[in-house]
Amino acid sequence: MAINWYPGHMHKAKKEIREVIPKMDLIIEVLDARLPFSSENPMVASLRRDTPCIKILNKSDLADPVVTQRWVDHINSTSGMKAIAVNLKQPDKIRSILDMAPAMVPERNLDVSQLKAIILGIPNVGKSTTINILASRTVAKTGNEPAVTKQQQRIKLPNNIVLLDTPGFLWPKLEPEDCGYRLAISGAIKNTVIEFEDVAMYLAEFMMAHYPDALRQRYQLKEIPESGIELFDMIGQRRGCMRRGGIADTHKVAEILINEFRDGQLGRITLETPEMIETQLKAMEES
Ligand code: GDP
Repeated sequence: MAINWYPGHMHKAKKEIREVIPKMDLIIEVLDARLPFSSENPMVASLRRDTPCIKILNKSDLADPVVTQRWVDHINSTSGMKAIAVNLKQPDKIRSILDMAPAMVPERNLDVSQLKAIILGIPNVGKSTTINILASRTVAKTGNEPAVTKQQQRIKLPNNIVLLDTPGFLWPKLEPEDCGYRLAISGAIKNTVIEFEDVAMYLAEFMMAHYPDALRQRYQLKEIPESGIELFDMIGQRRGCMRRGGIADTHKVAEILINEFRDGQLGRITLETPEMIETQLKAMEES
């Protein structure tokens, strides 16, 4: 899989994070609840040491609630880490981390000293939306396209918390390869970086294996076919995207599948579970 991760930006972000994390009392990482492992920045785990960490599983409205709960339990079982599943329609729940934070840094007397927190997140996970909700005002620009540069800023929050928002490009997991596909499906990686039709085929096969009922319902399928290619043909027929000769227009079908996943029209779907990640990491180590 050929991925160009804008090495210049990556280098700058790496340097800044390496310098700043040791000075922080708390790390807040915004993740995509549909892919809580793949949407982590790999440096956070290696630089964190004992620093308490809140993992915000954002976009929970799009994720499978049963799997989200498994992720929350999984993360909470790690020492010094707390997970909370939220979405932008739950501002009060997002702001509850402002009460959670002081309890995670017990040695600090917040009447006299500030709690320094850094907020991190790969593009498009909803970091800006989260910051604006925490601050109860617009301090960060939100948008749909992955951003590349931003100004570093310190945002004063209630409970004597100061939130550092880092600029630069925070890259997601590059390995195992499955992570790249999941990131591309979610929109965290631009559509052009990985072959779009391959990404949709990955999604098709994942849906067939894990959420066949959602496919049946959405595309009114009587049965789930044996292969992703056959599924593409079936969806193509349903949606009138056929080429001459009765073959589906794979690009159009790919767009339909990916867009409907991103909009939540396929239902609430999570692309990875803690168990799947464990298996994939083991396979990677052995290879
Ligand atoms: P950033 O790049 O991480 O700063 O992400 P933004 O805050 O700009 O959000 C990226 C996109 O995700 C925007 O279109 C938001 O409206 C959308 N978004 C953010 N949070 C949620 C959420 O909880 N649920 C859903 N469905 N969309 C969200």
